[in-house]
Amino acid sequence: MKVLEIRDIILSKGEICDHCLGRQFTQLYQGVENSKIGAAIRIAKTEEDIAKLISKDLKVKLSKNCFICKGIFTEMEDMLEKMLEKASGLEWKSFLVGNKLPPELIESEEILWTDIGMQYCEPIKREINRLLGKRISEKTGKLADFENPDIILIANFKTKRAEINIRPLFIKGKYRKLVRGIPQTKWPCRYCKGIGCEKCNYTGKMYKESVEELIAHEILKATGGKESKFHGKGREDIDALMLGSGRDFIIEIIEPKKRYINLDEMLRKINDYAKGKVEVSDLSFSNKKEVIELKAATADKVYEAFVSSEESLSDEEVHKLELFFKNRKIKQRTPKRVAHRRADKIREKEIRYVKCQMINEKQFKAEIRAESGTYIKELISGDEGRTEPSFSSTINKKLSCEKLNVLELVDVED
Ligand SMILES: [Zn+2]
Ligand SMILES: [Zn+2]
Repeated sequence: MKVLEIRDIILSKGEICDHCLGRQFTQLYQGVENSKIGAAIRIAKTEEDIAKLISKDLKVKLSKNCFICKGIFTEMEDMLEKMLEKASGLEWKSFLVGNKLPPELIESEEILWTDIGMQYCEPIKREINRLLGKRISEKTGKLADFENPDIILIANFKTKRAEINIRPLFIKGKYRKLVRGIPQTKWPCRYCKGIGCEKCNYTGKMYKESVEELIAHEILKATGGKESKFHGKGREDIDALMLGSGRDFIIEIIEPKKRYINLDEMLRKINDYAKGKVEVSDLSFSNKKEVIELKAATADKVYEAFVSSEESLSDEEVHKLELFFKNRKIKQRTPKRVAHRRADKIREKEIRYVKCQMINEKQFKAEIRAESGTYIKELISGDEGRTEPSFSSTINKKLSCEKLNVLELVDVED
C-alpha cells in the first residue's frame, strides 16, 4: 500500500491528531517528530510532497477528539509539570520515564493496525515516553538513563497523576565487628514479630543494636532514606567477632532524598557513631548487580575457637583432631540454638583444616577453616549427636566452644 492510500484509510476512520497520524509512518522518516510527519502527510498531494512539507514549519494539529489518543497529546505539558513536581526536593542526576495508558487507547491503535498494518509505526506508549523524556531533559538538564536511573517518573494517564519511583541507593564497604552479642542485621522480636511487646521492652527487636543499624544510622540521616536493607558476604555468629580486614557488605537505602553524599565524610561519621562496636572502611557507591554477586559468593571462613574440656586432654588427643579433620566432610543437623528460625535439615559441610595449640590441660585454641555456613560451636560440641563427626565424638570427651572469632574470609575457587 502507498503512503497516501494508508493516509486516506486512516482519515476516513474519524478525527485524528498529527501525533497519532504521523506515528503510523515513523520508520519512513527517521529522526523527524511524528507530529511534523503527520502535519505534512495530512495535506500532501503526492508522495514526493511529503519531504518538502516536513522541512516547512507547519502548524501541528492537536485534538481532544482524536479517535486514538483521546487528546493525550494536549495534556503533555500539564503532565510534565506534575512529574517535575513529584521530583522536586529530591536529589537526582538521571531518570527514566514510564507511562500508564487507559487500555481502550492502546486498543483503538491496535484496531487501526488490522486495517493498515504496523510496518512503519511507533507504538503510542513509546512516543509518549520519548516526548516526556526529551522535555524533562530540556527543562532540567538531566539525562535519561535506561540502566541505573536515580528516579523513574511515571505519567499515569488513567488517573491523570504523576507517580515517582525513587531507586534505592547502594553503598558498599567492609566492616569489622569489635564486640560480641550484636547480630549482623535487625532481628525482629520472636514473640511479637517486630510490633513491640513486654518481652522486647517495646522495641520490636531481639537485640538493641545490630551491625546493620550501627552502619545505617548516619547514612539514613544524611540521605533522608526510609529504611535500610543489609547484604553481607556471609555472616558471623552473634557471639563472634569479625576482625582482620573485615567483611564485605552492601547497604541498600530505600527511597533516599539525597544520594550524592560525600563518602569520606560518611565513613568518619559512621565510625564515630559506632565507635568501639563496629568499624567500616573502603566505602564506595554500588548497585543491584553487585548485591547479586555478593550474595552468590560463598567464601570459606577461618575461625579462631577457644575450646574447653571437662576432663584433662593429652597432646595426642589434640593432635588427633588435626589429622582427622583434614578435608573431612561432616553432617550437621540444624543446631538446637537456631532451630526456631531455620528449617530443620541436615547439611553436609567440609572442614578444610584444624590447627590446635594447647593453652592448659583443659583448654586449647583451634584455628579452623571451614566451608561457608558451617556451625562451628556444634562442630566442637557435637550438639548432642546432631553434628557428626565432631571434636567431642572424635576424642570421646565432652568439649565446648568458649569463644569464637572470625579471622578471615577466603574466597573459594570453584
Ligand atoms: Zn491523537
Ligand atoms: Zn516483642
